[in-house]
Amino acid sequence: MEIPRTDSHELAIQPEAFASPLDTALPLAATADPRLHLLGASADDLRVWLVANGHQKYRSAQLVDWIYAKNAETFEQMTNLSKPLRTWLTENAHLYRSTVARSQAAADGTQKFLLTFADGRSVESVWIPENQRHTACISSQVGCPVGCKFCASGLTGVERNLTAGEIVEQVLRVRRTVADTTAPAHDGQPARLSNVVFMGMGEPLANYHEVMAAVRIINASWGCGIGARKITISTVGLPRQIRMLAEEELQLNLALSLHAPDDALRQELIPWGRVPIAELIDACSYYFQKTGREITLEYVLLAEVNDRPTQADKLAVVCKRLRCNVNLLRYNPVEGTPYARPTAEAAFRFQERLRERGVNAHIRTSRGQDIDAACGQLRRRALAEDGIEPQRHRDTESSD
Ligand code: SF4
Repeated sequence: MEIPRTDSHELAIQPEAFASPLDTALPLAATADPRLHLLGASADDLRVWLVANGHQKYRSAQLVDWIYAKNAETFEQMTNLSKPLRTWLTENAHLYRSTVARSQAAADGTQKFLLTFADGRSVESVWIPENQRHTACISSQVGCPVGCKFCASGLTGVERNLTAGEIVEQVLRVRRTVADTTAPAHDGQPARLSNVVFMGMGEPLANYHEVMAAVRIINASWGCGIGARKITISTVGLPRQIRMLAEEELQLNLALSLHAPDDALRQELIPWGRVPIAELIDACSYYFQKTGREITLEYVLLAEVNDRPTQADKLAVVCKRLRCNVNLLRYNPVEGTPYARPTAEAAFRFQERLRERGVNAHIRTSRGQDIDAACGQLRRRALAEDGIEPQRHRDTESSD
């Protein structure tokens, strides 16, 4: 069931503002089930929906409390709701719509989940524990339209957008795993999910409305309660949507997946990313002006492809135009791609070259090395083993 949104920000955003056709062209969940997915509804949406169906207003606060504060998985657990209301909710709404089809745990504590939704489509979500920080890396689409040549998600194309509820559901599942399996912190406080990054499958800004509806629920004090500064949107770069994001009055982190220091190599690596780097930098500068948030440039180091000293020099020139820091990630090889992981020394030399030129650059540790670490690998393996061909929507291209 479509959620009747009451959020004024959503209403203020006009569809023609989207340069990418993907936001409107791709379907959401194709299911005949008319029940409302509560995890995609704001507190206001829930109140309006309950009242419109003859229930008392205060019930929405109870419902929200059960979902987000008490982590209820079924309506039966909501013992302060009347029995008739619980029965009505079971008939008219869903809480969790996915099942965990597979999971993998790495020696470093990283856990990857393959969630399958009612229409049989699946996405990956990852929990990355790091000292007191617990990060959920979540997906925004089934597959990805961007088609980065080095990525497992890009190899299979995009199937559909995720709904806000399906996005929030990933966060809640990781949050529950953190709470259930992690020892309390030094101060005795229970371990909690602290960060959310949209760095899983999909281009979040190509599913703008659903992603933003999810972000508001993840951020809300009545919802998941994750501060905006702990939420990162990672994009390949859709300038109009970046500008719209800047106007949202949220302090989200923005990460631009650059991966190349010049347009020619970038287009070779990211066929969908046809926007010139200069234009992307302009949009990111606007984001910085409006939010004061420094931009992160993501740069996956591919051996002998984009890790040469001259390429570090070019990247440093790009960085001079923007208030940014650079995250260098050594590539996790994906079967079926021609790219290799650079040595630690090569990555270090690249970082040093950037630093000598005044760029704030860090090498990020690759997590989950002993499992299907790269984005989309677990799903790809599962599809292959089940003999399923992904449905592709590759004809929809970035026109920004
Ligand atoms: Fe999509 Fe990210 Fe993979 Fe590129 S790296 S294809 S943007 S999921």
